Amino acid sequence: MRSFEYHKPETVQEAVELMGALDNAKYIAGGTDVMVLFRQKKIAPANLISLRSINDLVYIDEQDGLKIGSAATLSAIAKDEFIKRSYSALNDAATRLGSLQIRNVATMGGNICNAAPSADTACPLLVLDAKVIIVGQKGEREVDIDDFFLGPNKVALEKGEIVKGFHMPQFGNNTGSAYIKHTRRQAMDLPMIGVGARITIKIGKSEARCHDALCTIDNISNVLARLQDEELEIEDARIAMGVVAPRPIRAKQAEAALKGKVVSEKLFREIGEIAMSEAQPRDSIRGEAWYRKEMVKVLVRRALMRSIDRIIRPDDTIYPERLW
Ligand SMILES: Cc1cc2nc3c(=O)[nH]c(=O)nc-3n(C[C@H](O)[C@H](O)[C@H](O)COP(=O)(O)OP(=O)(O)OC[C@H]3O[C@@H](n4cnc5c(N)ncnc54)[C@H](O)[C@@H]3O)c2cc1C
Repeated sequence: MRSFEYHKPETVQEAVELMGALDNAKYIAGGTDVMVLFRQKKIAPANLISLRSINDLVYIDEQDGLKIGSAATLSAIAKDEFIKRSYSALNDAATRLGSLQIRNVATMGGNICNAAPSADTACPLLVLDAKVIIVGQKGEREVDIDDFFLGPNKVALEKGEIVKGFHMPQFGNNTGSAYIKHTRRQAMDLPMIGVGARITIKIGKSEARCHDALCTIDNISNVLARLQDEELEIEDARIAMGVVAPRPIRAKQAEAALKGKVVSEKLFREIGEIAMSEAQPRDSIRGEAWYRKEMVKVLVRRALMRSIDRIIRPDDTIYPERLW
């Protein structure tokens, strides 16, 4: 492995200035992507600028929505109870990314800036309407996460800029979200397909909650059939898909088709078909294109079902796997 200089700035400003002053330099956070590329001789930076000693990048702030610093580790995100309850899609991704050892050092900033189509936190951030906070020599700016991904390993960062963090709006208890990572095996693996969903239902019209014991343990298909008379109307929805295009994408036609509709399993099946038509996966060692496309249909329906389940049964952690 080629030798390099290791720099440890303690402020964002210092890091940005170092990047401006040094030749052939690269930022490194947890290093779980950078060091792999380094060892594979795909990159050979003469200078690594570590972001790990910058305290301003390590935060999880739950006031007025959710704010996560780019250097927050996946383990910290996975353990956070507020994220688990109110931003569940992100918890789903953080708990299944890599192994415990990887999660203990890997950061969300690194996962997003690496911009792999398979990045597990990308779909959750897309469905949770995240904004990316960027700092550079010209100051601070904000970009919608959907505009941040430009292509494989390409993001909307100007030379030397650092991602400071991610801000997500506040959602009420009429919102539920989920991320499903489909892998070839249960052990550590990158997703063959990743699907994220968020649903916000109209409140006031009905009370979308379980009131009896049967509702608590029954599967969500039966619960939805029982709640049919309540006519749960969808106010807003997001669907995001990973590994179906050169970058993580939103299924915007499927999202539009959900708005204003009454929740039903039949509707979610139709939405799965629409999302499938928006996916353009390729053959790869993890799966063939035709199979990926078929799985988009299935996983979109499941992610929507899980999102609505989390609205109807927010406190139910007794039978988390009852359905799946
Ligand atoms: C064994 C193994 C298993 C893995 N499993 C998964 C998995 O299941 N799912 C998955 O999605 N990924 C997986 N990964 C990939 C990797 O762990 C994640 O992408 C991780 O989140 C990267 O974070 P990091 O802090 O280690 O990034 P780093 O390697 O430090 O950096 C990654 C890239 O982001 C840039 N960067 C980092 N932080 C910033 C910042 N704040 N501002 C600007 N640029 C920045 C770096 O310059 C670099 O280009 C795995 C990796 C390994 C080695």
